[in-house]
Order: sequence, then C-alpha cells, then structure tokens
Amino acid sequence: MSDSKFDRRGFLRRGTTAALTAGFVAGSAGAEETAADTKGVKADGRTFLEPAKEIPVIGRWDVIVCGGGPAGIAAAVRAARDGARVLLIEANGCLGGIWTAGLLGCLLDGYNKPGITQEIFERLDKRDARRYRRLFEPEPMKIILDEMVQDAKIDVRLHSRVVAAHCDEANRLKLVVTESKSGREAFAADVFIDTTGDGDLSINAGCGWDYGCPDTGEAQPFSYIILLTGIELDEIRPYASGLPGESWAVPKQALAKLIEQTTGHGPSYASPTLFPVRDDVFVLMANHEYGLKGYRTDDLTRHVPRPGRSEPNDRRPAKPRRSVGQHPHRCHARAYRRPCEPPHPRAIHDLDRGYLHRRAVR
Ligand SMILES: Cc1cc2nc3c(=O)[nH]c(=O)nc-3n(C[C@H](O)[C@H](O)[C@H](O)COP(=O)(O)OP(=O)(O)OC[C@H]3O[C@@H](n4cnc5c(N)ncnc54)[C@H](O)[C@@H]3O)c2cc1C
Repeated sequence: MSDSKFDRRGFLRRGTTAALTAGFVAGSAGAEETAADTKGVKADGRTFLEPAKEIPVIGRWDVIVCGGGPAGIAAAVRAARDGARVLLIEANGCLGGIWTAGLLGCLLDGYNKPGITQEIFERLDKRDARRYRRLFEPEPMKIILDEMVQDAKIDVRLHSRVVAAHCDEANRLKLVVTESKSGREAFAADVFIDTTGDGDLSINAGCGWDYGCPDTGEAQPFSYIILLTGIELDEIRPYASGLPGESWAVPKQALAKLIEQTTGHGPSYASPTLFPVRDDVFVLMANHEYGLKGYRTDDLTRHVPRPGRSEPNDRRPAKPRRSVGQHPHRCHARAYRRPCEPPHPRAIHDLDRGYLHRRAVR
C-alpha cells in the first residue's frame, strides 16, 4: 500500500486498532507517533496517566503466594498443611515454573533431599515419570503439582499475573492486584509470599532491587530448553548425560564436538546437555543467551525460541527421525532481580556482615 493511499498518522488518530500480523514490537518503536492529543497522554506523548478504576476484591486468605514455581509450591503446600487458608497465584497456565513451563526436567541437587522434594520424587515414581534418580518428564510433573495443591486444599489462580500491590498506612502489604482475561482483580491476605522468582510482588510493593554482579551488573546467561523426540537412548548413548554411574562431563564434551562437526561452529553453551527423561524423550540445553535481562520485555521478545531460528533446533544430534517435541514459551533466567530495602545497596558482602530479614540478600 503506498503512502498516498494510506495515512498512517490519521489511521492511528482515528483510534483504529492495528493488528500486527508480522514482526515483533520492540522498544519504543513508533513512540514519536504516539497520539499526544489522547486524554491522559502528556504533552510530549511519552507517558500516559492511567485513570483510576474500581476493581473487585475477590476474597481474603491467610496467605497469598505469588508465583507457582518450585519455591511457590513449597511455600503454599507448607502453609496449607500448617492450617492456613492459602491462595496460589500463577502467571502461566500450569504450576511448576522452570520445572514445567521451562522444561528443565532435572532436579539437579534434589535426589538426596527430604521433605517436599522427597515427596515429589515418590509421586513421580508412582507415575513411572522419573529416570535415573533426578530426571523427570515435565508433563507428569504438572499433574503431580496439581495433585499436591489440591490435596492441601490450596486455592489456585492460573493465567493471572501480579501487577500491583497495595499497602496500608503502616506500609503493611494488604492487597495484590492481578491482570488476566477477567480483567484486573484484587486479592487480600494477612501474609504474602513473593515466589515470582524475579521479585515482581516485592518490587510492585515498593522495594528497591538490584541485579547481577554489584560491580558490573553482569548476570548469568539465560537458556531455553527443548524436548526432543523420535530418537532412542541406545542411538545416542555417548552424548547422553545423567545416566547412572556415568560422568556428566564426558557426554557433554562429546555432544559439543558433535554439534561443532555437524554445524561448523560450537554451541554458545560450551557444555551442552542432553539427557533422557524417557528412553525416547530428551531434554536438550545447548544455548547460553548473554546480556539478556528477564525484566525487559524487549529482551524476552528478541530471544523467544522459534522453530527454524532457535539455536538448539539447528544443532541437535543428526538423526532423520528426530523432532522437537516441545519448545518452551520463553527464554529462562538463572539470575533474577533481588528485591531490597532502598536505597541500601545489596552486595555479597552483606551476607558476611550478617544482615538479616529487612536487610536480607536473596
Ligand atoms: C536452563 C536453566 C537451568 C537451570 N538448572 C537448574 C538446576 O539444575 N538446579 C537448580 O536448582 N536450579 C536450576 N536453575 C535455576 C532455576 O531457575 C531455579 O532454581 C528455580 O527456577 C527457582 O524456582 P522459583 O520457584 O524461585 O522460580 P521459577 O521457576 O522461575 O518460578 C517462578 C514462577 O512465578 C511465576 N511468576 C513470575 N512472575 C509472576 C507474576 N508477576 N505473577 C504471577 N506469577 C508470576 C512464573 O510464571 C513461574 O511459574 C536453572 C535455570 C535455568 C534457566
């Protein structure tokens, strides 16, 4: 369509919603075209004053746990078993965080732990969903975590992202607000636990935060994991890690070499990992994404795993029947924001100084 036939500015001014059918919106692209004459938009067109709005308070609980990953499950189950009425709020459509939505498939340091970890392993075993002590299939993990929260009579709210938090005059947290298909909703409680990983609740409640190395801001790389199907363990045993009594390092080296031979360049993760969660389903992690910050939507948008673009997709062991069984919906973090009491700086040295509670380092 030529410019003469299509006045983009006029189109935007008329308030028509443009459906983006291709490409990804990143950064402030198009910010100069913001409709500065829209009510609430500041004169420079750069900010918008959102009008106040009445929203429903859905209920009150003893404890609200925000984030249904490994930490959130443990917190919610423990609180409920101790008699609290608990609500667990999760942004994804399933519980488990990195274990399920992130396809991690491994409890690296978990097989010798007691408590809830032990219980999860027993439940995995009952479903024949654990392999070689610490490896598991993400899908049965989702079911097990659902069962655990149901057994503990925990109320669960999926597909709901915590987007705001409100305190009373004494600065005690009283309400969280979620955004979902039902719109904005508020939930009240006596106690809130932030297990969003990235400190979303704490930061919305007014905490300061820091990230990465105190001196450089650098943090550990992100990765995304894919599930491979269509190959049997016997075919790729020399590249498979996690097998009983065998080294993790040797198969990783063999896999890195194989990737280099088949693609002409090494993987961005120098020790790529391939391990069986069934005899014909494998977890593959071959990439390290550097410089990415999980709290920046631009970064997450640019690094979304897409078939044909994603690095592990190009670098799987060469087998004609191989196929990607599942991609994660996003790149996952090893490093998160660390909420802290502003303006006190957070540093590893604070641990040495013995700061506790209000001055704690996550
Ligand atoms: C590739 C990779 C490999 C890793 N390997 C290991 C390993 O082997 N062993 C290990 O111990 N650790 C490993 N980690 C680190 C791992 O991420 C953490 O140990 C683990 O995820 C911590 O659990 P969590 O519950 O705190 O966070 P997460 O698993 O990130 O769970 C947080 C949950 O909160 C939800 N959430 C986030 N924001 C909101 C919001 N605003 N509202 C509602 N819900 C929200 C998320 O959707 C998610 O479900 C690995 C990480 C990566 C990326």
